[in-house]
Amino acid sequence: MGETMSKRLKLHLGGEAEMEERAFVNPFPDYEAAAGALLASGAAEETGCVRPPATTDEPGLPFHQDGKPAAKVDQETLTEMVKPSIDYVRHKKFRSGNYPSSLSNETDRLVHWCHGAPGVIHMLMQAYKVFKEEKYLKEAMECSDVIWQRGLLRKGYGICHGTAGNGYSFLSLYRLTQDKKYLYRACKFAEWCLDYGAHGCRIPDRPYSLFEGMAGAIHFLSDVLGPETSRFPAFELDSSKRD
Ligand SMILES: [Zn+2]
Repeated sequence: MGETMSKRLKLHLGGEAEMEERAFVNPFPDYEAAAGALLASGAAEETGCVRPPATTDEPGLPFHQDGKPAAKVDQETLTEMVKPSIDYVRHKKFRSGNYPSSLSNETDRLVHWCHGAPGVIHMLMQAYKVFKEEKYLKEAMECSDVIWQRGLLRKGYGICHGTAGNGYSFLSLYRLTQDKKYLYRACKFAEWCLDYGAHGCRIPDRPYSLFEGMAGAIHFLSDVLGPETSRFPAFELDSSKRD
């Protein structure tokens, strides 16, 4: 039993060490602390909330912009066929709030759009829009907290498994909730990405590509400038048009 315990302890400590290896410790104060400091200094400026612009729906998409299913996919079908899968994924959540990278993998290591909470958060937000159940929004917010803590990745700045992709989760949650806390978090991850190459991160196999490299990071930085119309490229539905 002693040996089993020590094995478990080793696994646990090893897992924690590996987790630390994969992400930087987030050096930024979170929104409440930062906003409190600004208010105390008298420098806070009320910018006001801007609602997302009204958009038209594109024919052929299974969902309207407000998240409601298009006529061809009725709510009953979604509830019967899609909701159980969503709830199954939800119940795979680790105690940390992160999600497994695959169904057979019980190691809580990866916090990437392609593996873990930064991908699952988009499913939860869509589930909230479609089924209108608070639990989905609450869990999306919990994902956001994990991403804030563990999302500055040593793998680099890309959108697939890099800091910019994790930053997109904040932009999406900001659009959904209009809570400036999430816009603040996106801005801080953007600030990190602006120091591109200064953190000793790994150089991606395709350093200029959209998903692994610089192109994705630039896309994210450009989207931070227009958060209301931001969209994770080739992933989030977008029928809004920019000038
Ligand atoms: Zn990836």
